[in-house]
Amino acid sequence: MKVYMDNNATTAMKKEVLEEMLPYYTEIYGNASSKFYEVGRQADEAVMEIRERVAKQLGAKTNEIYFTASGCEADNWAIKGIAFANKSKGNHIITSAIEHHAILGACEFLEKNGFSVTYLPVDEYGRVNPEDVENAITDKTILVSVMTANNEIGTIQPIREIAKICKAHKVVFHTDAVQAIGHMPINVEDLGVDMLSLSAHKFHGPKGVGVLYIRNGVRIENLIHGGGQERGKRAATENTAGMAGLAKALELANTDLDKKIEKMRTMRDRLITGISKNIPYCRLNGPTDDTRLCNNVNFSFRYVEGESILMLLDMKGIAASSGSACASGSLDPSHVLLAIGLPHEIAHGSVRFSVSDDTTEEEVDYVIETLPKIIERLRLMSPLYEEVLNKEEEEA
Ligand SMILES: *Cc1c(COP(=O)(O)O)cnc(C)c1O
Repeated sequence: MKVYMDNNATTAMKKEVLEEMLPYYTEIYGNASSKFYEVGRQADEAVMEIRERVAKQLGAKTNEIYFTASGCEADNWAIKGIAFANKSKGNHIITSAIEHHAILGACEFLEKNGFSVTYLPVDEYGRVNPEDVENAITDKTILVSVMTANNEIGTIQPIREIAKICKAHKVVFHTDAVQAIGHMPINVEDLGVDMLSLSAHKFHGPKGVGVLYIRNGVRIENLIHGGGQERGKRAATENTAGMAGLAKALELANTDLDKKIEKMRTMRDRLITGISKNIPYCRLNGPTDDTRLCNNVNFSFRYVEGESILMLLDMKGIAASSGSACASGSLDPSHVLLAIGLPHEIAHGSVRFSVSDDTTEEEVDYVIETLPKIIERLRLMSPLYEEVLNKEEEEA
C-alpha cells in the first residue's frame, strides 16, 4: 500500500488542473506581452481573465493580484519589497519565531543590511499573542508579518486581531497563507490584511507558481527587474499555464470547502486518536482545539529519531516528514518545535503527517497499524528506552 501523508510539503495536482493548463503550452502559447498578433493577444486576454478569477476567490480587486514563481518568492518580495520602499520611514520589522524559512531568511538578510527584526515568541501551542505584536510596534516599525497557519504544527494564528492592531498603528501587515488555502476560508477583506502569500502546489495546483496579494496603496519595491509585466512590479514572461493552473486549483479548493474541511478533520482526528492510543510516550505538538489546521498531525515520540521513523515508514510505503529542517538538509531540530518549548531530544523524535481531501480511512488505518510497530522496533534499540522499561518493571 502507498500512502502519501505529506500534503503540507506538496500535493498531487488534480487532473482538472492539468487539463486547464495544457492549452497554454500548445495552442495559446503566445507571449502575453506580444500584442501585435492573435496568439499573443489570446494569452494576454487569458491572463486578465485568470487574474480576475483569482481576485474573486480571495475577495481582492483584480489589480491587487501579482503572480510570482513560488510561495518563497511572494514571501521574499513582501518582506524585502516593503523594507526597501519604506526605509526612509523606519527600519523595524516584526515577525514570529515560527515563520517559514522564506520569511525568516529574508528577515535575516535584512538584519545584515541595516534593518532590525523582532521575532515574537509563541506559546506552547505555537500561538502568537496579539498583545505582543502591539507592544513590539515602535515609531520605526514598517512591517508586521505573521503566518496564517503554521506548516509544521498547524497552528492557526489570530490574524484578524493582529491586522486590526497593525491598521490602528498604520503599519503594513503581511500574512503567509500558503498553508491556509484549501484548509480554511481565506478572504483578504475579512482578514483585514494588506498583503498575503499563497502557492499553488500546496492546494493541488502546479509547482512553481504563487501569488502575492498587495492591497492598493501599499508602497512596495520591485524584487525582479526587467520588463513591465505584473503592472511594472515584477518582470518575467507570464507563466500562463501556471497561472491558469493556480486559478483552477484555487476554485476547486474553495468548492465545497466546508465539506472538505470536515472530511480532513475526521481523518486528522482518527489519526491523532489512533496514534495516541497505540503508542506510549508520545506527544501531540500544536493546538488541540479548532485553531489547528484541519489536515495537520505532528507527534513527538520519545527515545527515537524522526529520520529513522521516516526511513522505516518509507519501507512500508508511507510518506511523511520529520521535524528537522527538510530543505536545509541540516539535522538541527525544527525551529518551530524549539519555539514551543520542546527540548532538543524530544524535538528530534518528531514526525508530521498531513492529510488531503483525498486521504481515505483505509490509509489512515494503515498508518495507525504500521507506526506502533516501527516505533517499538526503534525503541528496542535505544539504551534510554531500556532504562525506562527497567524502571517500569521495578515499579510494577
Ligand atoms: C511551502 C511553503 C512556502 C513556500 O512555498 P513554495 O511555493 O514551495 O516556495 C512558504 N510558506 C509556507 C508556510 C509554506 O508551507
